[in-house]
Amino acid sequence: MHRSKTLTLAAALLAPLALGADFSGAQALEYTKALVAFGPRPAGTPALQKTQDYIVRQLKAQGWTVTEDAFPARTPAGVLQMKNIIASRKGTNGKAVVVTGHYDTKRFPFKFVGANDGGASGGLLLEMARALKDRPFKSDVYLVFFDGEEAVRDWTSTDSLYGSRHLAEKWQKDGTNARITGLINVDMIGDRDLHVVSEMYSSEPLRRLLWQVAAQLGEAKRFDGQELPIEDDHVPFLRLGVRALDLIDFEYGPRHAWWHTTEDTVDKLSADSLQAVGKVVAETLRRLDQ
Ligand SMILES: [Zn+2]
Repeated sequence: MHRSKTLTLAAALLAPLALGADFSGAQALEYTKALVAFGPRPAGTPALQKTQDYIVRQLKAQGWTVTEDAFPARTPAGVLQMKNIIASRKGTNGKAVVVTGHYDTKRFPFKFVGANDGGASGGLLLEMARALKDRPFKSDVYLVFFDGEEAVRDWTSTDSLYGSRHLAEKWQKDGTNARITGLINVDMIGDRDLHVVSEMYSSEPLRRLLWQVAAQLGEAKRFDGQELPIEDDHVPFLRLGVRALDLIDFEYGPRHAWWHTTEDTVDKLSADSLQAVGKVVAETLRRLDQ
């Protein structure tokens, strides 16, 4: 009795580590570098089209079903063609778990490559696709790359979050939203000095679960940012009642000085930070699937 109890405890402790270990921060950083190599990638530009082709190729190579969710977006700069990219896999229980992040970069008159802001979220999602491809899930799994997170001009409720607003509406109509047990959005999570904020709009039960996982996996020190309300790609889903959460580090460089500047380059990122977020997200998905 005593012995089997010990074994059960050991198995319980090892199981989450095993899933987190499938996720490689080094590989996520490689994917991020590949995305950044396309240069500035604002919505509606040829560079973003090349980025889309690259993402679709990677996802198909890993055996995922890929849906290209293209739509025209009315922006202050006119109508832009935008495209969310959705990797999906069917489960058996009718429920769904979702990881999302944006892959566009904000348009600026200077050369902004968005290594952390737009690059790291895409890189983490691509590595998540690789790490999860052979993992059994009872729920459907969706990995969503959002276009048009960034404002075309200045952030307003209509000039921002184009891709997530579009998909939240679409999934509301086709019933997908109602099946989601957890949606985790990642943004700016590659910072080598990582402090993920406790984002205040996020679903409280999901936040509790993910922070508990982070502590259990020894990552409490990186999930120690302040409480902050941040409008991000999770918000359109929250508004429709989806249990959604945002993982973001909103202190990038001294006094946030690297955010939306030419300083947002890959040398500011680390594989360790991507690894920490990737393994915590992967383990949270596993628990949502239980
Ligand atoms: Zn941004």
